[in-house]
Amino acid sequence: MTRTALREALVAAEICAPDKARMRAGQLWRWIHHQGVTDFDAMTNVDKDTRARLAERFTLARPEIVERQVSADGVRKYLIRFAPGIEAESVYIPDVGRAGALCVSSQVGCTLNCTFCHTGTQALVRNLTAGEIAAQVQVCRDDLGEWPSDKDERKLSNIVFMGMGEPLYNLDNVSDAIDIISDNEGMALSRRRITVSTAGVVPELTRLGEKTGAMLAISLHATNDDLRDKLVPLNRKYRIDELMAAIRAYPGLSNARRVTFEYVMLKGVNDSPAEARALVRMLAGMPAKINLIPFNPWPNSPYECSDWATIEAFAAIVNKAGYASPIRTPRGRDILAACGQLRSESKKVRASERRALAAAESVQLGAD
Ligand code: SAH
Repeated sequence: MTRTALREALVAAEICAPDKARMRAGQLWRWIHHQGVTDFDAMTNVDKDTRARLAERFTLARPEIVERQVSADGVRKYLIRFAPGIEAESVYIPDVGRAGALCVSSQVGCTLNCTFCHTGTQALVRNLTAGEIAAQVQVCRDDLGEWPSDKDERKLSNIVFMGMGEPLYNLDNVSDAIDIISDNEGMALSRRRITVSTAGVVPELTRLGEKTGAMLAISLHATNDDLRDKLVPLNRKYRIDELMAAIRAYPGLSNARRVTFEYVMLKGVNDSPAEARALVRMLAGMPAKINLIPFNPWPNSPYECSDWATIEAFAAIVNKAGYASPIRTPRGRDILAACGQLRSESKKVRASERRALAAAESVQLGAD
């Protein structure tokens, strides 16, 4: 819950009177989001009776980690189960950003069907709620032992919305989640270290900037509409010209707050020197950096990664034009945790089936 929702819920559940709600919510907030407690009884400055009433009406339980994998290079991938049949992945990458970054999912599955992306082969199951998005950060902090944590000693300093799903098709929840994780009396992750990546949902860009103050990343991948139509089908709806105009108008864009363009390097598809030059022309005058992502293969993927020399030549052209053009080192490929490799087995099922599944599950839990 956001702070406002928490306050309202406390009043609605008659845990406290409206005039005490702000104070009470603040007190709970620090326990939940600064100390990371998962049990109301740990809240030692809340009286016993209130703690019991809270426990009757609410839960602080984390979602279940179904699988936790650690790659040879220290990347941690979590498969998290939010509800029966609702699973998504998050990936912690050490030594990225100031200390380390968590890549969070905003949806289970995705509607975009980008042809080079593994998640694109999984149909959308549903949007994640703000609580489920924030819970991914909590789960990672549990695993890193970061409750509470001194800002300077953290291993988790940055958040990137680059996991499963299209964040701008779930903007209200993404925005609430950012409010929760950036709150200064809680996890206090700086908004300037939170990046939201989009394939280019043009009508939502301004609202993203105004509501969240997050850094913007754009999955570009091509410099002309014909090719981008094929790689990122969303381009058929919002053309490159429109997208560029919307990016130039992104609130707060400046040399200190540049937009990141992600460009996946696909062998023989989008990696020629001519395309590097076209990219530079397209970005003229824009405060930008270009993140070149070596294509990460997944089972039966229809592309190959560009040769290293080709990637370096591409980077050199972009760099010479004055744009930072880091090549994103593939991390966690051995556990399918790298960009575009995330996927879960969740499928959309009818509500009736889901209820049956949940009922079966609670019977099983009872039996245990
Ligand atoms: N839907 C949002 C968030 C996903 S971000 C978006 O499109 O921006 C995930 C990033 O990884 C995107 O830039 C995506 O284009 C890139 N990506 C997807 N599949 C990839 C792959 N197989 N190899 C490398 N990068 C990939």
